[in-house]
Amino acid sequence: MSRLSTVHNHERMSTQNLLLAIESAVAKGETDFYIEASGQHDIGGPLWNRDGKKLTFKVSNPGQRVGSMCMSNTEIVVDGPAPADAGWLNSGGRIVVLGDAGDTAGHCAAGGVIYIGGSAGTRSGSLMKHDPLYEPPELWVLENVGSFSFEFMGGGKAVVCGCESQNLPSVLGERPCVGMVGGVVYFRGHVASLPADVRISSLNEDDIAWLDGGLKNFINAVDRPELYHELAVWAQWQKITPLSFEERGRAKAVSIGAFRASEWIRDGIFSDVFHDDFQVNALVARGEDRLRVPYWENARFAAPCEFFCPASIPSQQRFNLLREGKIEDAYRLLLEYTPFPGSVCGSVCPNPCMDGCTRSVVDSPVQIGRLGSCSADISVEKPAQLSGKHLGVIGGGVGGLTAAWQLARMGHEVTVYEADSGMGGKLEQVIPRERLNHDILCRELNRIEKAGVHFVTDFPVDAERFNALRKKHDALIVATGGHVPRIFPWPGHEKAVAGIDFLKAVNRGENPRVPANVLVIGCGNAGMDAAGGAYAVGARKVICVDVQKPAAFAHEIAHIESLGGEMVWPVQIKEITDQGLITEDGRLIPGEMVIIAIGESPDLSYITDEVKKFRDWLVPSENLSILDGVFAVGDVIKPGLLAHAVGTGRQAAFAADAYLRGATFQPENKQEIPALRLHTAYFARCHASDLPTPQEDFTRCVSCGTCRDCGFCLKTCPETAIDRKNLGNSAFEYVSDPARCIGCGICAGVCPCGIWTMRPNRDLG
Ligand code: SF4
Ligand code: SF4
Ligand code: SF4
Repeated sequence: MSRLSTVHNHERMSTQNLLLAIESAVAKGETDFYIEASGQHDIGGPLWNRDGKKLTFKVSNPGQRVGSMCMSNTEIVVDGPAPADAGWLNSGGRIVVLGDAGDTAGHCAAGGVIYIGGSAGTRSGSLMKHDPLYEPPELWVLENVGSFSFEFMGGGKAVVCGCESQNLPSVLGERPCVGMVGGVVYFRGHVASLPADVRISSLNEDDIAWLDGGLKNFINAVDRPELYHELAVWAQWQKITPLSFEERGRAKAVSIGAFRASEWIRDGIFSDVFHDDFQVNALVARGEDRLRVPYWENARFAAPCEFFCPASIPSQQRFNLLREGKIEDAYRLLLEYTPFPGSVCGSVCPNPCMDGCTRSVVDSPVQIGRLGSCSADISVEKPAQLSGKHLGVIGGGVGGLTAAWQLARMGHEVTVYEADSGMGGKLEQVIPRERLNHDILCRELNRIEKAGVHFVTDFPVDAERFNALRKKHDALIVATGGHVPRIFPWPGHEKAVAGIDFLKAVNRGENPRVPANVLVIGCGNAGMDAAGGAYAVGARKVICVDVQKPAAFAHEIAHIESLGGEMVWPVQIKEITDQGLITEDGRLIPGEMVIIAIGESPDLSYITDEVKKFRDWLVPSENLSILDGVFAVGDVIKPGLLAHAVGTGRQAAFAADAYLRGATFQPENKQEIPALRLHTAYFARCHASDLPTPQEDFTRCVSCGTCRDCGFCLKTCPETAIDRKNLGNSAFEYVSDPARCIGCGICAGVCPCGIWTMRPNRDLG
């Protein structure tokens, strides 16, 4: 340990000499310091050991800015009080002050943790911010803070424990949290004179869990472990968070400059001593000299809803259009991705988009599925110009019709050949009518036909027809789906009925006879459909068995259970008998009828050419073709959801179009936006009973990765460096002027949608 004493023979060492001595010792590899200071400033940062070792400082009697710009892997313990600016712009250090701290403790902190074992002065925690590249900063104060604390807080977490402050009218002093736009302040005790654009609320479970863990570290660090039981009474705690953007009201938002001039402190913070011209010191780096620079990366990342949607539907764009009042455009946008918004999105899809929705961390997913139904009756025009190319699609199910729809919209002539007497594939033939309103399906099929797609039904394709269609058309799409039931050869399997055949009979209106007790083998979604079909035609009790945990979506299982159905697993079947299923362990699961619903595979016997396959399924090449000019879609590639068929149908259409134009097909491949880039703190929790209609749910949509044009960055940039450029046709972009930008990263910190990225500037050598 290096011990530095700063007074010799009544001579006090200057701040500069002390800092040079510390720097020189650190350069030589010293990592532990005991500093008997005499008011020297800036002790403790920014320093780092070149081998990555931790630096520790024990300091007595420091001057201002102890731990200022402190780096991670640095720990400072001040043995007593610290004057102003303790932990100023802390960038990652752990700073412990065992006594009181002066004004502006934790001011501008961007990382690390600051523990104050007494009270902290005015403007503590002001301008704390959270750079999404790092963990949020923390400021913990045992007693109370002075007036104007947490001004313009943009992120991070502050905790004011209110010890020995019971008689104060406000543990946060006067006018705390003015201009707060992010982060959270937890406090215990009274508060007064809060501005109108923040809210006080009680703690939730997550708050308590975080505080409980942090509190123990804090009171141990400041040597007051005995306070745990007094402080951990969470009913005494509350928190302050900024109002959401919507709650503030767009019209009322003012620029930071106007706010400073008129509302904050008239004529500037130090108006009593000098006139504030609101200019940042000219020495602050701008332009080429900035360490990091902001990039406006609108739509670089996929929103979670878009990423998890098998058809890559960008729902955030629909909600943004609704927010702008462009309702028809929002509904029409969906038709660029699917011809089945009502039948698939709004009816049978289990909505994996909603499972991934960011809004779940605030309250519940945005109502994407129900919004789909709003596009069910939007009409479309035929394209004005035709390409002169004629494509054939074999298979009139969801995948084939999606490909046909997309190709027709591109101006190609398309004919769909379907083996059945009607179009729609599994939507028409297999999905129980109770899950899909048949009228919606008919209207959507009608719209596809009106878009110019020719339907040919009762046209099963064999090898001869396949070869004839290849010759007839400029390109072919293979989309015959999976209709061959997969049957495991248990003894007695011939007594069982295939689930897909059973459901087809129900949908054809044949009313297949079922006994009172039905057994379904398979607890996937197909099994739930089979069970639902059995109930629809008169079964009194359906038991679904599986060798593993039921894989069907929770709401599908819940629906069958609500009808009286039962899931039984794990079940190893030994034999199927007239009395039911005999299991490997000798039990009888009774039932007079057994339906097998463990999936289907495609019948590809019509393709006699050599094609790449994995088991029963086709393996397309990178451009989705299986033969020259022949592209594969949906369940012939891989069994999946109907939304997967929509997704592959759309992609195959783009691939076929590129083939016809002699271009190279580029598959879409967007990464999901990292959750840390998003800021949900602006969004107030909405109670389930207050949910808006799906059309108005844009109020809850975070618009992950796509700019919602809120203007937050423009209004909070301290240098007014950001401008909004109108690009015409409602398009816009936000730009940062390098001549004004100081690379502070506030834009990236406040943007709710994760659009701004701070990147290193040129190599500074
Ligand atoms: S909040 Fe909006 S943009 Fe984000 S995942 Fe949910 S619906 Fe999509
Ligand atoms: S907030 Fe303004 S000054 Fe700061 S990085 Fe963004 S554009 Fe630059
Ligand atoms: S803060 Fe608002 S306006 Fe600025 S980039 Fe983010 S979403 Fe767009």
